[in-house]
Amino acid sequence: MDKGLPFRNIGLALCCCLMIFVLPFETGLGDEQISPGEAKIRFLGHCGFAVQTENHLLIFDYVEKRLEGKYEEPETRSLSTGYINSAEIEDRKVSVFVTHSHTDHYDPVIFDWEDIIPDIKYFFGWQATEEPQYNYLIGPKAEWEDEEMRIYTVNSHHSGVPEVAYLVLVDGLAIYHNGDCKADYKEDMPYLKSKTDHLDIAFVHPVWEEKWDYYWITLELINQMQPQAVFPMHVRVGDEEKYFKPFKSVYQPKMKSGEVVLTRNKKGAAYLYKDGEIILE
Ligand SMILES: [Zn+2]
Repeated sequence: MDKGLPFRNIGLALCCCLMIFVLPFETGLGDEQISPGEAKIRFLGHCGFAVQTENHLLIFDYVEKRLEGKYEEPETRSLSTGYINSAEIEDRKVSVFVTHSHTDHYDPVIFDWEDIIPDIKYFFGWQATEEPQYNYLIGPKAEWEDEEMRIYTVNSHHSGVPEVAYLVLVDGLAIYHNGDCKADYKEDMPYLKSKTDHLDIAFVHPVWEEKWDYYWITLELINQMQPQAVFPMHVRVGDEEKYFKPFKSVYQPKMKSGEVVLTRNKKGAAYLYKDGEIILE
C-alpha cells in the first residue's frame, strides 16, 4: 500500500548506522570509554587541566576570574571549550586539585561545583579554608589515599605562600602537576620516584633556559621519571612563541621516550593518552 515505507526503513537504518559509525570519529573517544592506563586531557587555560581517567575526572589549578577576557569567549562553556560546566560533569567522580593560593592557580569558583556534583573531593596544598570536608595536603610531603587513588605532594615556599606539586596515582596512571612549586629536586625527585618508577603525564613550567630553577626541576623529572607526555603550562596569552617551541626543542631531545605536547594556549584542546602515547584529538 505504502511503497515509500521500506525505503523509509532503509533510510532509518542507514541513519542509525551512520550515527554508530560516524559519531565516534566526530567527537573522539568519549570520556566514558577511557580504559585503565588511558586518559583524555583537556587544556583549561594557563595551568588548568582536566584529566579524565577510566573512573575519575581530575581538575588541576582551574581559574576563570583571572583569565576573563584573555581567551576568546566560546558560545558555550564546556570541557570541549576549556571550561568546567558543573552540569556537564555532575555524574562523574571529580577530584579538584589546587597547588597554591595565587589567583592564577586558585579561583573560588571551584566551590560552586559541589552544589551540583555529589561525588566531588577537593585537595589543597595549603590551609585554604577551615571547612573539614576538604583535604589539606600541607605537608611537608603530605600523602592521601583511598582504595582508588593515591596522592603525594612535595613543597616549596618561594613566592610568599606555601605551594605544592601533586603526584596522583589513579586508574593505572601516574600524573604530576607542578603548579609553581620549586621543588628541591635533588631530594624530592627520589622521593616521588619511591612512589612510582615512572610518570605518564607531567604538567610543568614552560621555562627552558638553564638560568631558571624550573629548568633543572623539569630536567630532573625527565631524567628520573621519564614522563611519556610533558605539557609545558603557565604561558601567558601572547607569549606562545617565546615559550612553546623553544621548550620543545630543548627538552624533546633529552627524553628517551615520550613527547613534549604543546597546547599553544588553545583552550579546550584535547589529547588522548593511550598505550603511552599522545593522540591529538
Ligand atoms: Zn603561577
